[in-house]
Amino acid sequence: MNRFDNFIAGEWVQGSGTRPNVNPSDTRDIIGDYAQADAVQTGHAIAAAAAAAPTWAASTPQQRFDVLDAVGSELLARREEIGRLLSREEGKTLPEGIGEAHRAAMIFKFFAGEALRAGGETLASVRLGVGVEVLRQPVGVVGLIAPWNFPIAIPAWKIAPALAYGNCVVFKPAELVPGCGWTIADILSRSGLPRGVFNLVMGAGSQVGQAMVDSPLVKAVSFTGSVGVGRRIIASCAQRQAKVQAEMGGKNPLVVLDDADLAVAVNAAVQGAYYSTGQRCTASSRFIVTEGIHDAFVDGVVAKLRALKVDNALLDGTDIGPVVDERQLAQNLKYVEIGRQEGGELAFGGEVLERATPGFYQRPALFTGTTNAMRISREEVFGPVANVVKARDYDEALAIANDTEFGLSAGLCTRSLKHATHFKLHAQAGMVMVNLPTAGVDYHVPFGGSKGSSYGPREQGTYAREFYTTVKTAYSAAG
Ligand code: NAP
Ligand code: MG
Repeated sequence: MNRFDNFIAGEWVQGSGTRPNVNPSDTRDIIGDYAQADAVQTGHAIAAAAAAAPTWAASTPQQRFDVLDAVGSELLARREEIGRLLSREEGKTLPEGIGEAHRAAMIFKFFAGEALRAGGETLASVRLGVGVEVLRQPVGVVGLIAPWNFPIAIPAWKIAPALAYGNCVVFKPAELVPGCGWTIADILSRSGLPRGVFNLVMGAGSQVGQAMVDSPLVKAVSFTGSVGVGRRIIASCAQRQAKVQAEMGGKNPLVVLDDADLAVAVNAAVQGAYYSTGQRCTASSRFIVTEGIHDAFVDGVVAKLRALKVDNALLDGTDIGPVVDERQLAQNLKYVEIGRQEGGELAFGGEVLERATPGFYQRPALFTGTTNAMRISREEVFGPVANVVKARDYDEALAIANDTEFGLSAGLCTRSLKHATHFKLHAQAGMVMVNLPTAGVDYHVPFGGSKGSSYGPREQGTYAREFYTTVKTAYSAAG
């Protein structure tokens, strides 16, 4: 049985068609055929969630804790197997896949605890004899739309807080990687949730996602993905006054100053830009390097890239897996070509690689001699492609780092406390890293960006409550 159905109103149901889930490390390997819902079936899921909303809103913190804790425990126990599925469907290496499955487990555990702590505030009124309470209530039905690059962590950081705060869920994984989302649904289907509280609807964004965005029954939409789709979703939700939260693209800078520890800077650069095949929204793609350390930094990065093993994600010793699909590979190659045409020097890599298994392999690419005005400095590539921009000093480097429409993550390598302190305050980004890669964040603190990268309240940590609850202020007179 290699067919994977949608989960709607507590039942497993076929879609209107299926779509094969292909392994990008070996395109002969089909993980399974996953249901494709249309807008009508999505409507059934939304109706089921709406019908279940009063029941789940009235559930106790203990019920919510039990469900989320059980999901976390099962993910933890099965993290090797689920991590392997993740690597097989998305192409990040096995250690990265297992690490992400582990992270998803921790996220469910975290929000199990938050379900117990959920509450409002009681304040004294400014008027004598009056009490004021700020109540936190569930929003109702939430639509959750995930991208392909974190097939289990992003679904987890949307689904877990949604349920913890008493909402009912319609969840759409990315078409390219439905396997991990299906696995969460399978675990939730055995968790004791009332029917309709959680629904999995796999299928195309233009059908399933759009139906969620347009439905008046969906009171809040949480989206992670590209800027183009995100902006349209924000506009549609605003139009009908639904809550919306969107995490979108990045063009994250890593600033390297003359006084940096060279090994720390080179490691942060290679790890942050190229691991997970550069397919992280927090990946660094612009290295902004001051003149005194420039050449040593470039030599160090190239030496490390030369030693990286690009191969099948499931093989022992692979550092960089394949690109997720043919379309993304074509986009990466297009930007390598654009970088060349704009006058950048390709210091290393960029070419397609053949391996023992047919997949979408590309050697990590590094451009030097680029300016921040070039398209490769301004547009998100979303692959293993980065470029070096030279800067005179810290002030110029900071100005270049901030000269972008995005603001997700920004990094600085330095031994100077003064510059580190200044950068934390003045880098225009939602997340700032000092002597660390721009990618790689904790699960218990807020995640999100500024400027064009994000819209709406933060995800993760206790900050998730802002999006997944609505506030009511209640006054009562004593006696
Ligand atoms: P995408 O193409 O925007 O897709 C994201 C999700 O939206 C997918 O589930 C997609 O469905 C769905 N979708 C597409 N059209 C839709 C519509 N009209 N209405 C509703 N939903 C729709 O992004 P992606 O290619 O999967 O992911 C890569 C992007 O995500 C990059 O730009 C990356 O920076 C960003 N990202 C951001 C963060 C962050 O937190 N800031 C994290 C990870 C990734 P399909 O599966 O059918 O395409
Ligand atoms: Mg897509």
